[in-house]
Amino acid sequence: MEKQHRLKNILTLLVSDLKKQDFLVYFRKISIMDISETSVTFGVVSWFMRDNLKAKFYDQILAATQNEIEWVKEIFFEVDSEIENPSNTGVIDCISFHKESSKKTKKITAKSSLETNVTKGKSVNNRYSLANFIVGSDNQLAFSACEAVCKNPGKSYNPLYIYGDVGLGKTHLLQATGNDIMKKFKDKNVVYTTADKFITEYVAAVKKRNIEKLRLKYREIDILIIDDVQFFAKKEQTQNELYNIFNLLYESDKQIIISRDRVPKELTELEPRLRSRFEWGITVDIGKPDFETRLAILQEKAREREFMIPHEVAEFIAANVTENVRELEWVLNQMIAEYELTGNTPTLPRIADKLKKLSFTTDILGSSRHAADTPKTTIRSYEDIIDCVSHHFGIEKEWILGENRKKEFMIPRQVAMYLLKSKMNYTYERIGNIFSGRNHAAVLYSYNKLDKMLKKDQNLLNEVNMIRNSIGI
Ligand code: ADP
Ligand code: MG
Repeated sequence: MEKQHRLKNILTLLVSDLKKQDFLVYFRKISIMDISETSVTFGVVSWFMRDNLKAKFYDQILAATQNEIEWVKEIFFEVDSEIENPSNTGVIDCISFHKESSKKTKKITAKSSLETNVTKGKSVNNRYSLANFIVGSDNQLAFSACEAVCKNPGKSYNPLYIYGDVGLGKTHLLQATGNDIMKKFKDKNVVYTTADKFITEYVAAVKKRNIEKLRLKYREIDILIIDDVQFFAKKEQTQNELYNIFNLLYESDKQIIISRDRVPKELTELEPRLRSRFEWGITVDIGKPDFETRLAILQEKAREREFMIPHEVAEFIAANVTENVRELEWVLNQMIAEYELTGNTPTLPRIADKLKKLSFTTDILGSSRHAADTPKTTIRSYEDIIDCVSHHFGIEKEWILGENRKKEFMIPRQVAMYLLKSKMNYTYERIGNIFSGRNHAAVLYSYNKLDKMLKKDQNLLNEVNMIRNSIGI
Protein backbone atom coordinates (compact mmCIF):
# COMPACT_ATOMS: atom_id res chain seq x y z
CA MET A 1 0.00 0.00 0.00
CA GLU A 2 2.74 2.38 0.93
CA LYS A 3 4.43 1.74 -2.38
CA GLN A 4 1.26 2.43 -4.31
CA HIS A 5 0.65 5.61 -2.37
CA ARG A 6 4.16 6.81 -3.08
CA LEU A 7 3.84 5.85 -6.73
CA LYS A 8 0.68 7.93 -7.01
CA ASN A 9 2.45 10.96 -5.56
CA ILE A 10 5.36 10.51 -7.95
CA LEU A 11 3.03 10.17 -10.93
CA THR A 12 1.05 13.23 -9.87
CA LEU A 13 4.24 15.27 -10.15
CA LEU A 14 5.12 13.70 -13.47
CA VAL A 15 1.68 14.34 -14.92
CA SER A 16 2.15 18.04 -14.34
CA ASP A 17 5.76 17.93 -15.48
CA LEU A 18 5.48 16.01 -18.75
CA LYS A 19 3.56 16.50 -21.97
CA LYS A 20 0.25 14.64 -21.86
CA GLN A 21 1.09 12.56 -24.92
CA ASP A 22 4.48 11.55 -23.52
CA PHE A 23 2.91 10.52 -20.26
CA LEU A 24 0.21 8.42 -21.91
CA VAL A 25 2.43 6.83 -24.52
CA TYR A 26 5.54 6.07 -22.51
CA PHE A 27 4.24 5.24 -19.08
CA ARG A 28 1.24 2.98 -19.79
CA LYS A 29 1.40 0.82 -16.68
CA ILE A 30 3.87 1.17 -13.87
CA SER A 31 4.57 -0.25 -10.44
CA ILE A 32 7.17 0.15 -7.73
CA MET A 33 8.93 -3.17 -7.40
CA ASP A 34 11.37 -2.22 -4.69
CA ILE A 35 12.41 0.65 -2.45
CA SER A 36 15.89 0.17 -1.03
CA GLU A 37 18.06 2.42 1.12
CA THR A 38 19.30 4.41 -1.81
CA SER A 39 17.18 3.53 -4.79
CA VAL A 40 13.75 2.82 -6.17
CA THR A 41 13.04 0.18 -8.82
CA PHE A 42 10.04 0.78 -11.04
CA GLY A 43 8.28 -2.07 -12.79
CA VAL A 44 7.26 -1.50 -16.40
CA VAL A 45 5.44 -3.38 -19.12
CA SER A 46 8.30 -4.39 -21.39
CA TRP A 47 12.02 -4.09 -21.91
CA PHE A 48 11.25 -1.61 -24.66
CA MET A 49 9.41 0.62 -22.22
CA ARG A 50 12.22 0.25 -19.75
CA ASP A 51 14.83 1.46 -22.22
CA ASN A 52 12.64 4.33 -23.36
CA LEU A 53 11.86 5.60 -19.89
CA LYS A 54 15.50 5.42 -18.95
CA ALA A 55 16.70 7.22 -22.06
CA LYS A 56 14.02 9.88 -22.25
CA PHE A 57 12.75 10.64 -18.78
CA TYR A 58 15.33 9.48 -16.28
CA ASP A 59 15.96 12.96 -14.86
CA GLN A 60 12.31 13.91 -14.50
CA ILE A 61 11.40 10.59 -12.90
CA LEU A 62 14.36 10.79 -10.53
CA ALA A 63 13.42 14.34 -9.51
CA ALA A 64 9.80 13.36 -8.90
CA THR A 65 10.94 10.31 -6.93
CA GLN A 66 13.33 12.37 -4.80
CA ASN A 67 10.54 14.76 -4.05
CA GLU A 68 8.56 11.91 -2.59
CA ILE A 69 11.43 9.92 -1.03
CA GLU A 70 14.29 12.28 -0.21
CA TRP A 71 17.05 9.75 0.33
CA VAL A 72 16.84 8.20 -3.13
CA LYS A 73 20.01 8.59 -5.16
CA GLU A 74 19.16 6.55 -8.20
CA ILE A 75 16.29 4.80 -9.89
CA PHE A 76 16.04 1.59 -11.89
CA PHE A 77 13.52 0.17 -14.29
CA GLU A 78 12.72 -3.47 -14.64
CA VAL A 79 10.14 -5.47 -16.52
CA ASP A 80 7.46 -6.46 -14.03
CA SER A 81 6.11 -9.83 -15.07
CA GLU A 82 3.08 -9.34 -12.82
CA ILE A 83 2.15 -6.00 -14.33
CA GLU A 84 -0.70 -7.35 -16.46
CA ASN A 85 -2.10 -9.45 -13.68
CA PRO A 86 -5.44 -7.89 -12.82
CA SER A 87 -5.07 -8.94 -9.22
CA ASN A 88 -1.89 -6.90 -8.81
CA THR A 89 -3.21 -3.84 -7.03
CA GLY A 90 0.20 -2.16 -6.88
CA VAL A 91 0.12 -1.38 -10.60
CA ILE A 92 -1.07 2.00 -11.81
CA ASP A 93 -2.68 2.26 -15.21
CA CYS A 94 -1.45 5.61 -16.44
CA ILE A 95 -4.37 6.28 -18.79
CA SER A 96 -6.93 6.03 -16.00
CA PHE A 97 -4.57 7.81 -13.66
CA HIS A 98 -4.22 10.69 -16.07
CA LYS A 99 -7.97 10.88 -16.50
CA GLU A 100 -8.52 10.86 -12.75
CA SER A 101 -5.92 13.50 -12.08
CA SER A 102 -7.19 15.82 -14.80
CA LYS A 103 -10.70 15.44 -13.38
CA LYS A 104 -9.35 16.34 -9.97
CA THR A 105 -7.55 19.44 -11.20
CA LYS A 106 -10.59 20.51 -13.14
CA LYS A 107 -12.85 20.27 -10.17
CA ILE A 108 -10.15 21.55 -7.80
CA THR A 109 -11.40 19.11 -5.26
CA ALA A 110 -9.56 18.27 -2.11
CA LYS A 111 -8.40 14.69 -1.54
CA SER A 112 -11.30 12.46 -2.38
CA SER A 113 -11.99 8.99 -1.11
CA LEU A 114 -12.35 7.77 -4.71
CA GLU A 115 -8.80 6.55 -4.76
CA THR A 116 -9.56 3.93 -2.15
CA ASN A 117 -10.83 1.63 -4.85
CA VAL A 118 -8.27 -0.89 -3.74
CA THR A 119 -8.76 -4.51 -2.87
CA LYS A 120 -9.39 -5.33 0.74
CA GLY A 121 -9.25 -9.06 0.23
CA LYS A 122 -6.48 -11.28 -0.87
CA SER A 123 -5.36 -10.80 -4.44
CA VAL A 124 -8.84 -10.47 -5.88
CA ASN A 125 -9.58 -7.50 -8.09
CA ASN A 126 -12.57 -5.52 -6.90
CA ARG A 127 -13.39 -4.27 -10.36
CA TYR A 128 -14.97 -7.61 -11.14
CA SER A 129 -18.29 -8.65 -9.72
CA LEU A 130 -21.03 -10.98 -10.86
CA ALA A 131 -23.27 -7.93 -11.05
CA ASN A 132 -21.18 -6.36 -13.80
CA PHE A 133 -20.84 -9.56 -15.79
CA ILE A 134 -23.18 -9.53 -18.76
CA VAL A 135 -24.98 -12.80 -19.23
CA GLY A 136 -25.77 -14.14 -22.69
CA SER A 137 -26.55 -17.57 -24.02
CA ASP A 138 -22.88 -18.46 -24.40
CA ASN A 139 -21.81 -17.81 -20.84
CA GLN A 140 -25.10 -18.48 -19.05
CA LEU A 141 -24.05 -21.84 -17.71
CA ALA A 142 -20.71 -20.65 -16.40
CA PHE A 143 -22.37 -17.65 -14.79
CA SER A 144 -25.07 -19.72 -13.11
CA ALA A 145 -22.50 -22.17 -11.79
CA CYS A 146 -20.56 -19.26 -10.27
CA GLU A 147 -23.72 -17.88 -8.73
CA ALA A 148 -24.53 -21.26 -7.21
CA VAL A 149 -21.01 -21.54 -5.80
CA CYS A 150 -21.38 -18.07 -4.24
CA LYS A 151 -24.53 -19.15 -2.48
CA ASN A 152 -23.14 -22.37 -1.21
CA PRO A 153 -19.35 -22.55 -1.45
CA GLY A 154 -17.94 -26.03 -1.17
CA LYS A 155 -21.36 -27.62 -1.37
CA SER A 156 -22.88 -27.29 -4.82
CA TYR A 157 -20.29 -27.63 -7.56
CA ASN A 158 -16.88 -28.65 -6.43
CA PRO A 159 -14.56 -28.13 -8.12
CA LEU A 160 -15.98 -25.67 -10.59
CA TYR A 161 -13.93 -25.86 -13.76
CA ILE A 162 -14.42 -23.15 -16.39
CA TYR A 163 -12.82 -23.32 -19.78
CA GLY A 164 -12.98 -21.24 -22.92
CA ASP A 165 -10.99 -19.22 -25.41
CA VAL A 166 -8.93 -16.22 -24.45
CA GLY A 167 -10.69 -12.98 -23.56
CA LEU A 168 -14.15 -14.41 -22.95
CA GLY A 169 -14.47 -13.60 -19.27
CA LYS A 170 -12.95 -16.50 -17.34
CA THR A 171 -10.79 -14.34 -15.12
CA HIS A 172 -13.66 -11.94 -14.65
CA LEU A 173 -15.95 -14.73 -13.46
CA LEU A 174 -13.35 -16.26 -11.18
CA GLN A 175 -12.48 -12.99 -9.52
CA ALA A 176 -16.11 -11.93 -9.32
CA THR A 177 -16.96 -15.19 -7.57
CA GLY A 178 -14.09 -14.65 -5.14
CA ASN A 179 -15.22 -11.09 -4.47
CA ASP A 180 -18.83 -12.02 -3.94
CA ILE A 181 -17.99 -14.88 -1.59
CA MET A 182 -15.73 -12.57 0.38
CA LYS A 183 -18.51 -10.04 0.72
CA LYS A 184 -21.04 -12.59 1.76
CA PHE A 185 -18.94 -14.75 4.04
CA LYS A 186 -16.62 -12.35 5.80
CA ASP A 187 -14.81 -15.07 7.73
CA LYS A 188 -13.94 -17.19 4.67
CA ASN A 189 -10.36 -17.25 3.56
CA VAL A 190 -10.53 -16.72 -0.19
CA VAL A 191 -7.36 -16.97 -2.27
CA TYR A 192 -7.10 -16.17 -5.96
CA THR A 193 -3.95 -17.21 -7.71
CA THR A 194 -2.80 -18.09 -11.18
CA ALA A 195 -0.87 -21.15 -12.27
CA ASP A 196 2.09 -18.89 -12.98
CA LYS A 197 2.01 -17.37 -9.53
CA PHE A 198 1.60 -20.73 -7.88
CA ILE A 199 4.59 -22.11 -9.77
CA THR A 200 6.72 -19.13 -8.73
CA GLU A 201 5.59 -19.53 -5.15
CA TYR A 202 6.32 -23.22 -5.17
CA VAL A 203 9.77 -22.84 -6.74
CA ALA A 204 10.67 -20.13 -4.22
CA ALA A 205 9.49 -22.31 -1.36
CA VAL A 206 11.59 -25.23 -2.58
CA LYS A 207 14.62 -22.97 -2.90
CA LYS A 208 14.19 -21.57 0.58
CA ARG A 209 13.38 -25.00 1.93
CA ASN A 210 10.15 -23.82 3.50
CA ILE A 211 7.67 -25.86 1.58
CA GLU A 212 5.91 -26.61 4.87
CA LYS A 213 4.98 -22.95 5.17
CA LEU A 214 3.40 -23.01 1.71
CA ARG A 215 1.47 -26.17 2.61
CA LEU A 216 0.25 -24.61 5.80
CA LYS A 217 -0.93 -21.53 3.94
CA TYR A 218 -2.90 -23.53 1.40
CA ARG A 219 -4.30 -25.86 4.01
CA GLU A 220 -6.05 -22.95 5.66
CA ILE A 221 -7.84 -21.75 2.57
CA ASP A 222 -11.63 -21.99 2.36
CA ILE A 223 -11.98 -21.04 -1.29
CA LEU A 224 -9.08 -21.66 -3.66
CA ILE A 225 -9.30 -20.05 -7.08
CA ILE A 226 -6.67 -20.93 -9.68
CA ASP A 227 -6.71 -19.17 -13.02
CA ASP A 228 -5.09 -20.35 -16.25
CA VAL A 229 -4.16 -23.87 -15.21
CA GLN A 230 -2.89 -24.59 -18.71
CA PHE A 231 0.35 -22.99 -17.53
CA PHE A 232 0.96 -25.96 -15.24
CA ALA A 233 1.86 -27.90 -18.36
CA LYS A 234 5.05 -29.90 -17.88
CA LYS A 235 5.55 -28.69 -14.33
CA GLU A 236 5.26 -32.13 -12.78
CA GLN A 237 6.55 -31.29 -9.31
CA THR A 238 4.27 -28.30 -8.94
CA GLN A 239 1.35 -30.36 -10.17
CA ASN A 240 2.15 -32.98 -7.60
CA GLU A 241 2.08 -30.39 -4.83
CA LEU A 242 -1.17 -28.99 -6.14
CA TYR A 243 -2.63 -32.47 -6.30
CA ASN A 244 -2.00 -32.94 -2.59
CA ILE A 245 -3.41 -29.52 -1.75
CA PHE A 246 -6.43 -30.25 -3.89
CA ASN A 247 -7.17 -33.50 -2.10
CA LEU A 248 -6.82 -31.95 1.30
CA LEU A 249 -9.13 -29.07 0.51
CA TYR A 250 -11.60 -31.20 -1.34
CA GLU A 251 -11.90 -33.67 1.49
CA SER A 252 -12.74 -30.90 3.90
CA ASP A 253 -15.41 -29.49 1.56
CA LYS A 254 -13.42 -26.42 0.65
CA GLN A 255 -14.43 -24.84 -2.63
CA ILE A 256 -12.04 -25.00 -5.56
CA ILE A 257 -12.52 -23.00 -8.74
CA ILE A 258 -10.30 -23.44 -11.75
CA SER A 259 -10.07 -21.94 -15.21
CA ARG A 260 -8.27 -23.04 -18.28
CA ASP A 261 -7.82 -21.66 -21.77
CA ARG A 262 -9.20 -23.95 -24.38
CA VAL A 263 -6.58 -26.21 -25.91
CA PRO A 264 -7.16 -29.19 -28.12
CA LYS A 265 -8.12 -32.29 -26.15
CA GLU A 266 -5.11 -34.15 -27.47
CA LEU A 267 -2.83 -31.68 -25.74
CA THR A 268 -3.07 -33.37 -22.39
CA GLU A 269 -0.25 -31.54 -20.71
CA LEU A 270 -1.63 -31.87 -17.22
CA GLU A 271 -0.93 -35.01 -15.26
CA PRO A 272 -3.89 -37.31 -15.81
CA ARG A 273 -4.65 -37.68 -12.10
CA LEU A 274 -4.71 -33.92 -11.57
CA ARG A 275 -6.81 -33.42 -14.67
CA SER A 276 -9.30 -35.99 -13.54
CA ARG A 277 -9.53 -34.27 -10.14
CA PHE A 278 -10.29 -31.00 -11.89
CA GLU A 279 -13.07 -32.70 -13.77
CA TRP A 280 -14.68 -34.25 -10.71
CA GLY A 281 -17.17 -31.47 -10.16
CA ILE A 282 -18.76 -29.49 -12.93
CA THR A 283 -17.02 -28.44 -16.13
CA VAL A 284 -18.51 -25.50 -17.97
CA ASP A 285 -17.65 -23.94 -21.24
CA ILE A 286 -17.69 -20.24 -22.14
CA GLY A 287 -18.32 -19.49 -25.79
CA LYS A 288 -18.03 -16.37 -27.93
CA PRO A 289 -20.76 -13.86 -27.12
CA ASP A 290 -23.40 -13.12 -29.73
CA PHE A 291 -24.19 -9.65 -31.07
CA GLU A 292 -26.66 -8.68 -28.33
CA THR A 293 -24.30 -9.76 -25.59
CA ARG A 294 -21.39 -7.91 -27.19
CA LEU A 295 -23.48 -4.79 -27.40
CA ALA A 296 -24.56 -5.06 -23.78
CA ILE A 297 -20.96 -5.64 -22.66
CA LEU A 298 -19.74 -2.64 -24.60
CA GLN A 299 -22.42 -0.46 -23.08
CA GLU A 300 -21.67 -1.72 -19.59
CA LYS A 301 -17.94 -1.08 -19.99
CA ALA A 302 -18.59 2.40 -21.35
CA ARG A 303 -20.90 3.13 -18.44
CA GLU A 304 -18.24 1.95 -15.98
CA ARG A 305 -15.77 4.35 -17.57
CA GLU A 306 -18.37 7.14 -17.65
CA PHE A 307 -17.97 7.42 -21.40
CA MET A 308 -20.89 8.15 -23.73
CA ILE A 309 -21.16 6.16 -26.96
CA PRO A 310 -24.06 6.93 -29.30
CA HIS A 311 -26.22 3.86 -29.74
CA GLU A 312 -25.58 3.47 -33.47
CA VAL A 313 -21.83 3.62 -32.85
CA ALA A 314 -22.06 0.97 -30.13
CA GLU A 315 -24.08 -1.24 -32.48
CA PHE A 316 -21.57 -0.75 -35.24
CA ILE A 317 -18.70 -1.76 -33.00
CA ALA A 318 -20.54 -4.76 -31.58
CA ALA A 319 -21.34 -5.91 -35.11
CA ASN A 320 -17.76 -5.70 -36.25
CA VAL A 321 -15.57 -6.56 -33.29
CA THR A 322 -16.42 -10.19 -32.95
CA GLU A 323 -13.31 -12.06 -31.85
CA ASN A 324 -13.48 -11.65 -28.12
CA VAL A 325 -14.49 -9.32 -25.33
CA ARG A 326 -10.97 -8.17 -24.68
CA GLU A 327 -10.80 -6.71 -28.20
CA LEU A 328 -14.14 -5.03 -27.64
CA GLU A 329 -12.78 -3.38 -24.52
CA TRP A 330 -9.64 -2.47 -26.36
CA VAL A 331 -11.59 -0.62 -29.05
CA LEU A 332 -13.43 1.22 -26.29
CA ASN A 333 -10.11 2.16 -24.70
CA GLN A 334 -8.89 3.45 -28.05
CA MET A 335 -11.96 5.65 -28.33
CA ILE A 336 -11.52 6.97 -24.84
CA ALA A 337 -7.82 7.64 -25.37
CA GLU A 338 -8.57 9.46 -28.60
CA TYR A 339 -11.21 11.52 -26.89
CA GLU A 340 -8.80 12.40 -24.12
CA LEU A 341 -6.00 13.31 -26.47
CA THR A 342 -7.91 15.14 -29.18
CA GLY A 343 -11.42 15.80 -27.87
CA ASN A 344 -12.90 13.77 -30.76
CA THR A 345 -16.19 12.20 -29.79
CA PRO A 346 -17.11 8.85 -31.35
CA THR A 347 -19.26 9.30 -34.45
CA LEU A 348 -20.18 6.62 -36.95
CA PRO A 349 -17.86 7.76 -39.77
CA ARG A 350 -15.01 8.31 -37.36
CA ILE A 351 -15.45 4.90 -35.78
CA ALA A 352 -15.79 3.19 -39.16
CA ASP A 353 -12.54 4.80 -40.18
CA LYS A 354 -10.89 3.87 -36.92
CA LEU A 355 -11.95 0.23 -37.13
CA LYS A 356 -10.64 0.07 -40.67
CA LYS A 357 -7.33 1.46 -39.51
CA LEU A 358 -7.25 -1.05 -36.69
CA SER A 359 -7.85 -3.68 -39.39
CA PHE A 360 -11.30 -4.79 -38.37
CA THR A 361 -13.85 -5.18 -41.10
CA THR A 362 -16.32 -2.37 -41.35
CA ASP A 363 -19.22 -4.37 -42.54
CA ILE A 364 -22.34 -3.47 -40.62
CA LEU A 365 -23.81 -6.86 -41.39
CA GLY A 366 -21.29 -8.24 -39.02
CA SER A 367 -19.55 -10.89 -41.07
CA SER A 368 -16.11 -11.28 -39.63
CA ARG A 369 -14.05 -10.85 -42.74
CA HIS A 370 -10.87 -8.81 -42.51
CA ALA A 371 -9.85 -5.53 -44.08
CA ALA A 372 -10.07 -4.90 -47.78
CA ASP A 373 -6.64 -5.89 -48.98
CA THR A 374 -6.43 -9.08 -47.00
CA PRO A 375 -5.63 -11.89 -49.37
CA LYS A 376 -8.45 -14.24 -50.21
CA THR A 377 -7.71 -17.27 -48.12
CA THR A 378 -9.49 -19.48 -45.70
CA ILE A 379 -7.74 -17.80 -42.79
CA ARG A 380 -10.34 -16.56 -40.38
CA SER A 381 -8.46 -14.87 -37.62
CA TYR A 382 -5.13 -14.08 -36.09
CA GLU A 383 -5.53 -17.23 -34.05
CA ASP A 384 -5.09 -19.33 -37.17
CA ILE A 385 -1.73 -17.70 -37.83
CA ILE A 386 -0.63 -18.11 -34.24
CA ASP A 387 -1.75 -21.73 -34.19
CA CYS A 388 0.16 -22.40 -37.34
CA VAL A 389 3.35 -20.72 -36.11
CA SER A 390 3.00 -22.55 -32.82
CA HIS A 391 2.59 -25.84 -34.62
CA HIS A 392 5.49 -25.18 -36.98
CA PHE A 393 7.98 -24.33 -34.25
CA GLY A 394 6.54 -26.88 -31.85
CA ILE A 395 5.97 -24.46 -29.00
CA GLU A 396 2.84 -23.63 -27.07
CA LYS A 397 0.68 -20.70 -28.08
CA GLU A 398 1.08 -19.15 -24.64
CA TRP A 399 4.81 -18.79 -25.14
CA ILE A 400 4.28 -17.08 -28.46
CA LEU A 401 1.80 -14.65 -27.02
CA GLY A 402 3.71 -14.14 -23.78
CA GLU A 403 6.65 -12.06 -22.69
CA ASN A 404 9.42 -14.57 -22.24
CA ARG A 405 12.47 -13.27 -24.06
CA LYS A 406 14.32 -16.51 -24.68
CA LYS A 407 15.39 -16.79 -28.28
CA GLU A 408 13.36 -19.92 -28.89
CA PHE A 409 10.19 -17.98 -28.11
CA MET A 410 11.22 -14.60 -29.51
CA ILE A 411 11.74 -15.76 -33.07
CA PRO A 412 8.38 -17.55 -33.44
CA ARG A 413 6.72 -14.56 -31.78
CA GLN A 414 8.34 -12.18 -34.22
CA VAL A 415 7.40 -14.43 -37.12
CA ALA A 416 3.75 -14.41 -36.01
CA MET A 417 3.78 -10.63 -35.65
CA TYR A 418 5.48 -10.25 -38.99
CA LEU A 419 2.89 -12.37 -40.77
CA LEU A 420 0.00 -10.55 -39.12
CA LYS A 421 1.42 -7.25 -40.24
CA SER A 422 2.62 -8.10 -43.70
CA LYS A 423 0.05 -10.68 -44.76
CA MET A 424 -3.05 -9.92 -42.75
CA ASN A 425 -2.60 -6.18 -42.70
CA TYR A 426 -3.12 -5.87 -38.97
CA THR A 427 -2.03 -2.62 -37.42
CA TYR A 428 0.86 -2.54 -34.96
CA GLU A 429 -1.59 -1.52 -32.25
CA ARG A 430 -3.84 -4.47 -32.78
CA ILE A 431 -0.92 -6.85 -32.91
CA GLY A 432 0.41 -5.37 -29.68
CA ASN A 433 -2.93 -5.92 -28.07
CA ILE A 434 -2.95 -9.55 -29.10
CA PHE A 435 0.59 -10.08 -27.81
CA SER A 436 0.17 -9.34 -24.11
CA GLY A 437 -0.63 -5.67 -24.58
CA ARG A 438 2.68 -4.63 -26.08
CA ASN A 439 2.78 -1.11 -27.39
CA HIS A 440 2.89 -0.02 -30.98
CA ALA A 441 6.63 0.74 -30.89
CA ALA A 442 7.53 -2.68 -29.49
CA VAL A 443 5.69 -4.43 -32.32
CA LEU A 444 7.23 -2.14 -34.90
CA TYR A 445 10.64 -2.98 -33.48
CA SER A 446 9.97 -6.72 -33.71
CA TYR A 447 8.64 -6.38 -37.21
CA ASN A 448 11.71 -4.48 -38.39
CA LYS A 449 14.02 -6.86 -36.63
CA LEU A 450 12.52 -9.89 -38.33
CA ASP A 451 12.42 -8.11 -41.65
CA LYS A 452 16.17 -7.51 -41.37
CA MET A 453 16.85 -11.08 -40.31
CA LEU A 454 14.89 -12.46 -43.23
CA LYS A 455 17.12 -10.54 -45.59
CA LYS A 456 20.20 -12.19 -44.12
CA ASP A 457 19.10 -15.60 -42.96
CA GLN A 458 18.05 -17.95 -45.73
CA ASN A 459 17.04 -20.71 -43.29
CA LEU A 460 14.67 -18.47 -41.45
CA LEU A 461 13.24 -17.22 -44.71
CA ASN A 462 12.59 -20.83 -45.70
CA GLU A 463 10.81 -21.46 -42.44
CA VAL A 464 8.60 -18.43 -42.87
CA ASN A 465 7.80 -19.50 -46.41
CA MET A 466 6.89 -22.97 -45.20
CA ILE A 467 4.44 -21.46 -42.74
CA ARG A 468 3.00 -19.21 -45.41
CA ASN A 469 2.58 -22.16 -47.74
CA SER A 470 0.87 -24.26 -45.17
CA ILE A 471 -1.78 -21.64 -44.59
CA GLY A 472 -1.84 -20.18 -48.05
CA ILE A 473 -0.87 -16.56 -47.37
P1 ADP B 1 -10.21 -14.54 -20.03
O1 ADP B 1 -9.73 -14.72 -18.62
O2 ADP B 1 -11.22 -15.55 -20.43
O3 ADP B 1 -9.08 -14.49 -21.02
P2 ADP B 1 -11.11 -11.99 -19.06
O4 ADP B 1 -11.93 -12.42 -17.91
O5 ADP B 1 -9.77 -11.42 -18.75
O6 ADP B 1 -10.95 -13.16 -20.13
O7 ADP B 1 -11.98 -10.99 -19.93
C1 ADP B 1 -11.41 -9.97 -20.73
C2 ADP B 1 -12.15 -8.69 -20.48
O8 ADP B 1 -13.47 -8.81 -20.97
C3 ADP B 1 -12.28 -8.35 -19.01
O9 ADP B 1 -12.06 -6.97 -18.84
C4 ADP B 1 -13.69 -8.71 -18.65
O10 ADP B 1 -14.22 -7.84 -17.66
C5 ADP B 1 -14.41 -8.53 -19.96
N1 ADP B 1 -15.55 -9.45 -20.11
C6 ADP B 1 -15.55 -10.66 -20.70
N2 ADP B 1 -16.78 -11.19 -20.71
C7 ADP B 1 -17.58 -10.29 -20.09
C8 ADP B 1 -18.99 -10.25 -19.80
N3 ADP B 1 -19.81 -11.25 -20.14
N4 ADP B 1 -19.46 -9.16 -19.16
C9 ADP B 1 -18.65 -8.15 -18.85
N5 ADP B 1 -17.34 -8.11 -19.11
C10 ADP B 1 -16.80 -9.17 -19.73
MG1 MG C 1 -7.80 -14.89 -17.92
